[in-house]
Amino acid sequence: MLEYKIPFNRASLSGREIENILQAFANGHVAGDGAFTHQCHALLEKIISSPKALLTTSCTHALEMTALLLNLKPGDEVIVPSFTFVSTVNAFVLRGVTPVFIDIRPDTLNLDERQLAEKITDKTRAIVPVHYAGVGCEMDEICKLAEAHGIAVVEDNAHGLFGKYRGKPLGSFGTFSTLSFHETKNLTCGEGGALLINDVSYVERAEIIREKGTNRSQFFRGQVDKYGWVDLGSSYLPSEVLAAFLFAQLNASTMIQARRQAVWTRYSSDLAGWAGDNHVRVPVIPAHCEQPYHMFYILLPNLDVRQAFIKHMSEAGVLTPFHYVPLHSSIMGQKFGGRLGDCPVTEDVSDRLVRLPLFSSLSREDQDFVTARVREFKV
Ligand SMILES: *Cc1c(COP(=O)(O)O)cnc(C)c1O
Repeated sequence: MLEYKIPFNRASLSGREIENILQAFANGHVAGDGAFTHQCHALLEKIISSPKALLTTSCTHALEMTALLLNLKPGDEVIVPSFTFVSTVNAFVLRGVTPVFIDIRPDTLNLDERQLAEKITDKTRAIVPVHYAGVGCEMDEICKLAEAHGIAVVEDNAHGLFGKYRGKPLGSFGTFSTLSFHETKNLTCGEGGALLINDVSYVERAEIIREKGTNRSQFFRGQVDKYGWVDLGSSYLPSEVLAAFLFAQLNASTMIQARRQAVWTRYSSDLAGWAGDNHVRVPVIPAHCEQPYHMFYILLPNLDVRQAFIKHMSEAGVLTPFHYVPLHSSIMGQKFGGRLGDCPVTEDVSDRLVRLPLFSSLSREDQDFVTARVREFKV
């Protein structure tokens, strides 16, 4: 494998992670739902203004929980952007649901809400907006349509922790929203996620599904005197070891976010002239959206130029990966009737996008090396 001088991402410790893990062992509780998990829940509820957070083993699993909570079944339809990670769709396909792929807006690369109405049928059960790069989807329109049709909204908020739409935290709009703490996300515990439940009528069942279909959470709170098998479920709760690690990251989030903001902002100012001269588009952040500095991407004029750019950066030891391969025209997408040409903006953007290295420990010197190398590239 190629050794990169500057990787795309590098997870780093923020300070207290190891100490917290030792504390979890000292507490004598390293399985799930101990003190650190509860503290993470409280912090996430505060950040997202959501009544209930539950840590999960991944964002993928949090999405799977939403499909179970909504009782989705074969024949149901869920509207998902084609330009997303496979889990956004797989979680529903696992329940036999038919995904209905929708194209993205050319500016924010988010699900194009103007095409939603025509995708809704009497089988539609949920809309799954993905806040790409943590820039909010047009939630006013999406929620209005969903409400008018009695459809649930599940926000895939894997990129959007700390992002806001019209002053409200991303993740607070849908019936549910999901977070990822995978190593590539702003805050991490290696692998991890969370389910945020904004409609409290789902809380009791969510706790049961997360605990193998048992009412063990109620038992630990003293609400029932024995626990048993009461519903469907699986093991969706992470260990305290991970929660202890994550709690340190959550507590350091001001510092982590400030560093990411500094890197993002420097890319934006250092590359503006070059982008303008070379027909390169940089991210669009609408005035009513606050972004969490998750990603700095650029859109090159076409696939050939994009591939040449990746090679140019790679030869200097800088990894600049492209992003999502459209799902509608993938091998699985075709099984649901997806065809090349169905989502033209997705297909176009997928060919032209690359992401620049962005992580909290990226030094100024290394970032200057990246931007200097970028500016040597002439389209
Ligand atoms: C990272 C990511 C996921 C999956 O997160 P995991 O925690 O790895 O399961 C889902 N959706 C989007 C948009 C992501 O970026």
